[in-house]
Amino acid sequence: MSPIAPQADAKQDALAHDLTPIRESVRALCANFPGEYWRALDRTRSYPEEFVAALTKAGFLAALIPEEYGGSGLSMTAAAAIMEEIQACGCNGAACHAQMYTMGTLLRHGSVEQKKRYLPAIASGELRLQAFGVTEPTSGTDTLSLRTTAVRDGDHFVVNGQKIWTSRAEHSDLMLLLARTTPREQVKSRTAGLTVFLVDMRAAKGNGLTIRPIRTMMNHATTEVFFENLRVSADAVVGREGEGFRYILSGMNAERILIAAECIGDAKWFVGKATAYAGERVVFGRPIGQNQGVQFPIARAYIGMRAAELMVREAAALYEAGKDCGAEANMAKHLAAEASWAAADMCVQTHGGFGFAEEFDIERKFRETRLYTVAPISTNLVLSYIAEHVLGLPRSY
Ligand SMILES: Cc1cc2nc3c(=O)[nH]c(=O)nc-3n(C[C@H](O)[C@H](O)[C@H](O)COP(=O)(O)OP(=O)(O)OC[C@H]3O[C@@H](n4cnc5c(N)ncnc54)[C@H](O)[C@@H]3O)c2cc1C
Repeated sequence: MSPIAPQADAKQDALAHDLTPIRESVRALCANFPGEYWRALDRTRSYPEEFVAALTKAGFLAALIPEEYGGSGLSMTAAAAIMEEIQACGCNGAACHAQMYTMGTLLRHGSVEQKKRYLPAIASGELRLQAFGVTEPTSGTDTLSLRTTAVRDGDHFVVNGQKIWTSRAEHSDLMLLLARTTPREQVKSRTAGLTVFLVDMRAAKGNGLTIRPIRTMMNHATTEVFFENLRVSADAVVGREGEGFRYILSGMNAERILIAAECIGDAKWFVGKATAYAGERVVFGRPIGQNQGVQFPIARAYIGMRAAELMVREAAALYEAGKDCGAEANMAKHLAAEASWAAADMCVQTHGGFGFAEEFDIERKFRETRLYTVAPISTNLVLSYIAEHVLGLPRSY
């Protein structure tokens, strides 16, 4: 755990909410999942079942589900503190962070029946909704070019196509799927014709749905998913047919804020590790941290983390006040991902050769945190968003 985290958190939380009890509960839970646990899973690219089960049992993954549906009904600020704390303790919330926010599309746009049917079971953990099928191999960031189609056939849709990077699909019961229901050339607006489906993967596997794991540089349980004449009941449509792109966009702010909070947690972990090591490692007869060449990069990483943290908190505050937070969520994700990556690099450098040794966990966290300048949205696309929507510059793509 990061030795710098508690004081900084207390000062910041005092400005907004008192999140000390939640943070302490998360830390207590994470203490049962030390570095050895994550290292063993990392070697075999295995899913952290026990960790996810413990977080579910404690109710943390149901933080954003309203109490009327069996969730904890917490604020975005509290949810962000949970994700941040998980990472600051050296754990990896990527295994289950989507269980916290993917249901937001259902909550905001689903029918009363869908919400009653699914949300309590998602809140209890009986059902996992943590697979999000948007990205495709050919369309990439250009979501509107996606090629997976869902064609109406009576009271069903028939789905054909492929998704890539559908993380946790093997560990999820439900998938939120974005597919084209009206050909692009037949829609009036650029963004119309895409529909969101809540696919029950338990029934679909082997009946038109195939999942293939993709081995990546870190343990992320990501996959590619193939649809071959998969029949999905029409009552799996979330909201109105053809308006799915708007629904998916509306969920992205929550995703960005929570992942930004994870990056803050990672940065705290790296800064904490580096500070501790720089204080105890003696070379040339003095602690390496006595050299400004060693202490300045640590201080710089700390400052970068704190600045990013302010933007994460601002984005979360706007989100929970129901205000537009698109710019702040994007900026928070960008600053936090850069801060965690800079802190990761600094931490390896501070540790010298030991930064590369598996038992220090630094190389594992280094690999894990690298993802966030690419996913869920890459740096260039955040910059394009700010250039276009905040600065009013011409759209570049
Ligand atoms: C481990 C992992 C887990 C993921 N999990 C999920 C998931 O669960 N569900 C899901 O739907 N997706 C998921 N993704 C996909 C992720 O959101 C995308 O990888 C990411 O948005 C980038 O898209 P791409 O990989 O297709 O890159 P591309 O769109 O091919 O872009 C490649 C590079 O070119 C840049 N680029 C592209 N167009 C422009 C432009 N116009 N201007 C400037 N630069 C540009 C991008 O910034 C990027 O750096 C995951 C990805 C990874 C690696």
